[in-house]
Amino acid sequence: MTDTLLWRLAYDVAEAHQPDATGRCQNLLCGGRQAPCDPLRNAERAMRLARGDAATGAQAPAPRPRPAAPVRPEHPCSGREAA
Ligand SMILES: [Zn+2]
Repeated sequence: MTDTLLWRLAYDVAEAHQPDATGRCQNLLCGGRQAPCDPLRNAERAMRLARGDAATGAQAPAPRPRPAAPVRPEHPCSGREAA
């Protein structure tokens, strides 16, 4: 979730412009226009943008691989010869 405020605003608009059983928007601003109406389309686009999963959305940073440090245990067995 990138922009909660924008998403919330767009969600409210989309809620107010849901098509009814006949596939028409009964919102007062639309007056029975064929769904999806312009406000609903705009709201859904804004919701996608707010979530950041549109084509122009934010790119997640790629996980950086940790450098593998070669840890070699020391062997204290050098030059130990029984005479
Ligand atoms: Zn509408």
